[in-house]
Amino acid sequence: IAVYNDVHKSFGDVEVLKGIDLEIAPAEKVALIGPSGSGKTTIIRMLMTLEQPTSGTIVVDGQYLWHMEKNGELVPANEKHLRQVRGDIGMVFQHFNLFPHMSILENCMVAPINVKGVPKKEARERSAEMLEKVGLGDKLDDYPSQLSGGQKQRVAMARALVMRPKIMLFDEVTSALDPELVGEVLEVIRDIAKEGEMAMVLVTHEMDFARDIADRVVFLDEGRIAEQGTPEQVLENSKSERLNSFLSRFR
Ligand code: ATP
Repeated sequence: IAVYNDVHKSFGDVEVLKGIDLEIAPAEKVALIGPSGSGKTTIIRMLMTLEQPTSGTIVVDGQYLWHMEKNGELVPANEKHLRQVRGDIGMVFQHFNLFPHMSILENCMVAPINVKGVPKKEARERSAEMLEKVGLGDKLDDYPSQLSGGQKQRVAMARALVMRPKIMLFDEVTSALDPELVGEVLEVIRDIAKEGEMAMVLVTHEMDFARDIADRVVFLDEGRIAEQGTPEQVLENSKSERLNSFLSRFR
């Protein structure tokens, strides 16, 4: 459902991604692991078109996000197409980015109404259903400030799910949470993963969690995919010294 082909990305003089080839199949669950600064966030932000590659191509659902002009310049796809792609992808960030002046129900209703033109009544029903699913069915009228970090992160997930994305991106969604709140958030992601139909890309430092839910684990190191395979292959039978040393930090 998403294909990266020789994707490079530089910020100024620093080349952060040095040729990424990565294919994500429909419904596949991919865990992206690697040291801080290895480029994990940059990879997934590109799918949301929040970053543009310096070179290389990314295809989502059969459509190029950027194409190359004859002079070698990369040009974004037209706005209509990009809007459609963004509507098919849900992203949950480390920080929840909820609208503070809206109830959590309203937080979930905004995007389906504004981006997908869903009628208000339906948006309300879908939002209530998703908030129920993440365990917040009794808090629809609460404001974000009334919630714990774990609850806010579950709202952020419901808000993304209401859009019925084909791909969900999770960027270290538990790393800003107090340790005792991590479990409840991972549990919700596990439930979503079990339902099966959505592709998921998870940037995570939770190795047990990655082992549980990923079909494939991709180890990124210094801007390159250094190893990938099943959780058993990558997390338990890693070949490289770099990966072993990275994993030893979590043991
Ligand atoms: P972490 O686990 O710490 O989040 P990461 O693997 O997700 O790391 P990225 O966030 O993708 O890594 O960042 C890769 C590198 O690119 C880092 O060195 C970062 O400082 C740099 N970088 C990311 N975004 C920008 C930007 N907008 N401008 C300049 N440098 C950036």
